[in-house]
Amino acid sequence: MSFPAIVAELKAAMPELRGRLLENQSLAELTWFRVGGPAQALFMPEDEADLAYVLAHLPHEIPITVIGLGSNLIVRDGGVPGVVIRLGRGFNAVTIEPGERVRAGAAVPDLRVARAAQEAGISGLAFLRGIPGAVGGALRMNGGAYGREVEDALVEARGVDRAGRLRVLALADMHLSYRHCGAPDDIVFTQALFQGAAGDPVAIAAEMDAITESREATQPIKSRTGGSTFKNPPGQKAWQLIDAAGCRGLAIGDAQVSTLHCNFLINRGGASAADIEALGETVRARVKESSGVDLQWEIKRIGIAP
Ligand SMILES: Cc1cc2nc3c(=O)[nH]c(=O)nc-3n(C[C@H](O)[C@H](O)[C@H](O)COP(=O)(O)OP(=O)(O)OC[C@H]3O[C@@H](n4cnc5c(N)ncnc54)[C@H](O)[C@@H]3O)c2cc1C
Repeated sequence: MSFPAIVAELKAAMPELRGRLLENQSLAELTWFRVGGPAQALFMPEDEADLAYVLAHLPHEIPITVIGLGSNLIVRDGGVPGVVIRLGRGFNAVTIEPGERVRAGAAVPDLRVARAAQEAGISGLAFLRGIPGAVGGALRMNGGAYGREVEDALVEARGVDRAGRLRVLALADMHLSYRHCGAPDDIVFTQALFQGAAGDPVAIAAEMDAITESREATQPIKSRTGGSTFKNPPGQKAWQLIDAAGCRGLAIGDAQVSTLHCNFLINRGGASAADIEALGETVRARVKESSGVDLQWEIKRIGIAP
């Protein structure tokens, strides 16, 4: 399936655009699940000024959707109308600042932030080692693991709103809570400033290695997956509820509830986005029936059904 062409018209209306703007670009390869349809247009801005220029000049009726490394994402099979924004090279810097601070562009993989902090002897950011997304996604999801989340380490985030205005949001303006960010939905994050504490690089490296080992033992991290599918309800574990509802290993087509960690759904190869989403909804219904709990999706679903 493909969308009506819009790129030529958009380029004509935005002569100073410097990044890449591509028509009907497949998104499946940009996500961990490897499913879903195309973006009507995929925009990879050159830098923050380019992003701001495009957002300021893009007609208002054209929706925008941001994606990061696609590790928490189902792109529906009909694709995503409008402009999908993916940050790359121009948002890839990590710098160490005085006072045990780390500044990272939104396209920097979380792992690189953790490594840079470790090398600089900054503790408190090792938890990012296990999250396979980039900084922009970590901000939007308030990503966390092993007892810490972005909320515990963030000083401020920087971004551009739908009107192309630069915004700097202090931690309090981000309204972060468990896997939730209350900053305005239209903000495309471009950078984060994290606060750590002085630490011993050797001890931090050991902490990161322990995280790697624990991940490999307990999660299907080499599979086509989206990480935790549902949020943990207050005081409960989603995986336990799913297990108790008899869903471990349950499959629809090539979409399957992981047998290793049953809050993970996996694409065994030929699943469609519809298969994965239907499996998730089946799990939700069975959990509701067996325990009365209404599981909430943690994975973000974007785009339209064909
Ligand atoms: C194997 C595996 C293990 C995982 N383990 C964890 C874990 O331990 N803890 C955890 O918290 N998560 C975990 N996840 C989920 C996922 O890695 C995180 O949610 C991550 O923060 C998503 O980042 P991303 O770059 O992949 O974002 P995407 O999946 O591409 O997008 C996620 C959301 O962020 C938004 N977004 C992305 N970039 C930007 C931006 N620049 N500006 C504004 N919004 C943006 C998107 O619009 C979307 O709503 C895991 C996933 C996998 C596959």
